[in-house]
Amino acid sequence: MMDANKFYINGKWVTPEGTQHLEVINPSDEKGFATITLGSQADTDNAVAAAKQAFPTWSATTKEQRIELLERLFETYKARAEEMAQTISQEMGAPIDLARSAQVGAGAAHLKNTIRALKSFNFEHPLGEHAPDNIILHEPVGVCALITPWNWPMNQVMLKVAPALAAGCTMVLKPSEVSPFSAMLLADMIDSTGFPPGVFNLVNGDGAGVGSQLSEHPDVNLVSFTGSTRAGKAITIAAANTVKRVGLELGGKGANIIFADADEKAVTRGVRHCFANSGQSCNAPTRMLVEKSVYNQAVETAVMIASKTDVGLAGTEGRHIGPVVSEQQFQKVQGLIKKGIEEGARLAAGGEGRPEGFEKGYFVKPTVFADVTPGMTIWSEEIFGPVLSITPFETEEEAIELANDTVYGLTNYIQTSDKEKARRVARQVRSGMVEINGKPGSAGFPFGGMKQSGNGSREGGAWGLEEFLEIKSVTDW
Ligand code: NAD
Repeated sequence: MMDANKFYINGKWVTPEGTQHLEVINPSDEKGFATITLGSQADTDNAVAAAKQAFPTWSATTKEQRIELLERLFETYKARAEEMAQTISQEMGAPIDLARSAQVGAGAAHLKNTIRALKSFNFEHPLGEHAPDNIILHEPVGVCALITPWNWPMNQVMLKVAPALAAGCTMVLKPSEVSPFSAMLLADMIDSTGFPPGVFNLVNGDGAGVGSQLSEHPDVNLVSFTGSTRAGKAITIAAANTVKRVGLELGGKGANIIFADADEKAVTRGVRHCFANSGQSCNAPTRMLVEKSVYNQAVETAVMIASKTDVGLAGTEGRHIGPVVSEQQFQKVQGLIKKGIEEGARLAAGGEGRPEGFEKGYFVKPTVFADVTPGMTIWSEEIFGPVLSITPFETEEEAIELANDTVYGLTNYIQTSDKEKARRVARQVRSGMVEINGKPGSAGFPFGGMKQSGNGSREGGAWGLEEFLEIKSVTDW
């Protein structure tokens, strides 16, 4: 097992140059359980230099060579799935059953889908029948900095590492300092798979340190970032001087439009989805918009589901929700619940403080606010906790207007038995993704947002692969 204080650079676990350390906290008991090193400029430079040196050889590998290594990595990942689930559960508080299924499963699914996309991807093709001697080459971008958050750690990391490897890029991963161990475990798997030294590197650190050093580094050609809109803006500014490519996957404030003709499980499904992973999902349907004729009934159902949502320790098996990730996140969520009450939203379930029976741990009561109106802080701010806001609407036009009344545009949800209405509304909501009647996207569904949820980048499948490729057009081939 690797030493928690080391970094993975140029095919080896190395002692960092940085001397600052950070304690990683278990959110279920608020106790530190391990320490990591925060990288310095010298660590960032060493990792980038290793990736730069490895690029000419790795970018010249064949698609078949990369498929073989990725398939080997997939086998290793599956074989060490339980270790990964325990690691994720401890570092960010996902209940162990959720960690085993959705958290670890998402990483496996993205790796598998990337391999599938790579197999069918055409890296070299003519411009068209009218110009057969004009050739379009899809080439790896170069050295990539991958900066990821803590909420779905392997989901986010694999959505970047797998396509970057598949494209022929080399990389430096800086995982969230709040959840570094799942990424270090993946580094260990990559090491045992036999990727050439320098192709994949990992440096731990915080945003102000390694995060911004990577963003402004002259030898980094692309930054792929998932996290808050605040950090996305800082990265874009830091990257501007070197005109590198920046891919952003940011926050969300998804609307779930429930029409009166929705199926009978629509409200229950929406509440459960909002509370899943303790509300810490960028695509969570946090604003439930309900047609007036079924509004009171929907609030009643939401209250019932909140009261039936158990809260429990991350290490315990079962379908409960765990704590939120950190003291900072706990305080933020508590502050927003307080603000919701002060600004006049009707607290229908949950509220401030820990659930009964918890004196420590970052546990939050499953909370439902009714009669939430535009202008309230909880209407516009991403809460990232198990907190649902419900708002009535009268017409289809009003529902669309309310759904679009946000700076975000990641995922919106529509519940109706009228197919034509669903399509009409789906076309008018401003978001990168729309899910109708509880159907999640299939393998390779491009993930990403509009407005302040992203800058046009998409992850997953063929689109995810294209993020890491440059287009070169050549004449007289
Ligand atoms: P965060 O932005 O604080 O941190 C994310 C990562 O960025 C961490 O690795 C952090 O160290 C780094 N970072 C922070 N400031 C930086 C800076 N100035 N320069 C470079 N790197 C910096 O976010 P978080 O709290 O870890 O994650 C929660 C946020 O992520 C939420 O807003 C959520 O909606 C968003 N998110 C978005 C998606 C998506 O695909 N759209 C997916 C998951 C999470």
